Amino acid sequence: MKECTHRDQIRDVKPRSHACGECLKMGDTWVHLRLCMTCGHVGCCDSSKNKHATKHFHSSQHPIMRSIEPGESWGWCYIDEVELDFA
Ligand SMILES: [Zn+2]
Ligand SMILES: [Zn+2]
Ligand SMILES: [Zn+2]
Repeated sequence: MKECTHRDQIRDVKPRSHACGECLKMGDTWVHLRLCMTCGHVGCCDSSKNKHATKHFHSSQHPIMRSIEPGESWGWCYIDEVELDFA
C-alpha cells in the first residue's frame, strides 16, 4: 500500500467557516466541505459542481485535505492519492 509522504505539511488548522467561500461569492451551492490541512482553506468536494477543494490543491500545491462533514475524519493526499485518518 502507498504511504503519504506529505504529513510534514499538516498544520494545526481550524476551518475558517463552514461554507465554501468561493461558492458563496458565486451564489452557488455545494455538496460537502473539505479542509486544507496546510492553510485552513475550506472548499467544496468533487461531488460539488465547482470542486473548489481540488482547485485549491492545483493552485496552492497544498497536498492534504480532510472532510469536515460531521462524524467524518478521513482525509486525502492529492499527490499520493491515499486516504488518511484524522480520527
Ligand atoms: Zn502525500
Ligand atoms: Zn465551492
Ligand atoms: Zn491550502
